[in-house]
Amino acid sequence: MELTAGQLWSQVLEAAKERLAEQTYKTWLSGTNAVSLTQDQLLVEVPSEFHVGWIGDRYGKQLAELVQRVAGREMILTFECAAEAPEIHFPAVELSPPAVGGAVQGDGRRIAPTRPRLNDRYTFDRFVVGSNNEFAAAACRAVAANPARTYNPLFIYGGVGLGKTHLMQAIGCDILGSAPLTRTVYLTAEQFTNELVTAIQNGKTPDFRRKYREVDLLLVDDVQFLAGKERTQEEFFHTFNSLYDARKQIILTSDRPPKEIGGLEARLVSRFEWGLVADIRPPDYETRVAILRKKSEDDHIILDDDVIDFVARSCTSSVRQLEGAIIKLLAYSSLTNRDITVEFARANLKAEASIPARGHLVSPEDIKKAVAEAWGVRPEALSSKRRTKDLTVPRQVAMYLIREILDVALVQIGAVFGGRDHSTVIHSLRKVESQMQSDLSFRDRVETLGEDLRRP
Ligand code: ADP
Ligand code: MG
Repeated sequence: MELTAGQLWSQVLEAAKERLAEQTYKTWLSGTNAVSLTQDQLLVEVPSEFHVGWIGDRYGKQLAELVQRVAGREMILTFECAAEAPEIHFPAVELSPPAVGGAVQGDGRRIAPTRPRLNDRYTFDRFVVGSNNEFAAAACRAVAANPARTYNPLFIYGGVGLGKTHLMQAIGCDILGSAPLTRTVYLTAEQFTNELVTAIQNGKTPDFRRKYREVDLLLVDDVQFLAGKERTQEEFFHTFNSLYDARKQIILTSDRPPKEIGGLEARLVSRFEWGLVADIRPPDYETRVAILRKKSEDDHIILDDDVIDFVARSCTSSVRQLEGAIIKLLAYSSLTNRDITVEFARANLKAEASIPARGHLVSPEDIKKAVAEAWGVRPEALSSKRRTKDLTVPRQVAMYLIREILDVALVQIGAVFGGRDHSTVIHSLRKVESQMQSDLSFRDRVETLGEDLRRP
């Protein structure tokens, strides 16, 4: 019999548990979830972008082999960050009756939706309220207590990694906790757009409309994405109106206030401002400390006060950055078997603020330049999208050397090369590694260059 995604992944995890150190397993794999399985691909959600890079990089190959072994066929294993997973892999809401079971409300009409894609870590309990977000948090609490009766729509805006998605989903979790039959849809404006495009292509626009106009609670994340997309705005306008008229709660987030989203129709801007607009700012020092304490408590991690102080002082831009720092410290300490002290944190968190130079002052740009020179191409060309062989080889080598010398995260390497994603970077690193094994003169060339760059 065919295994489900969950069954397949849990067998893989069992095998992985035997092969990996307990701490490693706990830190990296215990919070993963299989979300979909097709003939040739298993998609697994992991808690953060950092996990995506880390697991893919260190354990990806081993895990992929286990997946193939358990499934008994060629499979691609893909990791993705839970919060940002595209909706296509898991419909946000199922409006047709489930085949068996499924709750029916008193009036006998409503069918319980399948669990919407809400992250169950994104609850009010886990959200630390500080002066930077207290207004937004209070507004969200009010909406959760009284959906569609207080502020409709509720519009939350603020910079990246400050807790917009968390708060928005906390409303969803809270409402579903007390009224599980609430038909809830959470999705990003990008997913809304993609789905609309697919619906149009397949002549399924009426289904698309029905799906979104028949919900009780609509959570749309990152609506700034609608900027300049006229057809999607038009559709969203009608969805908004029909939900609003039916007194259904709408919650929106964006990286800026409605008026500042360029390329957004005036009628949408004005609707977005109908209810309440609340902002979230970067956390101050005290809030950062409180967040670090809370996270370590929630995850049963023991961090000394002076380490917390150090992290709170070095990571100032967002909550996501704080979380990334903790995950990284945990990872390094479990790999090296060392305690997390301030010294340890200082040595390992250099990458957090900016791309680090370890021990001496070579930068990713220096490495790029040196490789470009050695291969006789222009350094800018390495960041271009062009994929001719004269560029791909030095580009891959530069990625490899940046990784080797500076040990920065894959996403950061991707950023240095014109925003390539981490899987492209992984592919490049593997390519270089395998060519170094098969071609000794290539290997010599790369290693010599690496040594030159490492020399102070
Ligand atoms: P945004 O949507 O604004 O980019 P997220 O909601 O995804 O940010 O938050 C990034 C991470 O930081 C999430 O893991 C979230 O749980 C966490 N986070 C943000 N703000 C807080 C807070 N005030 N208390 C606890 N965790 C928070
Ligand atoms: Mg978000």
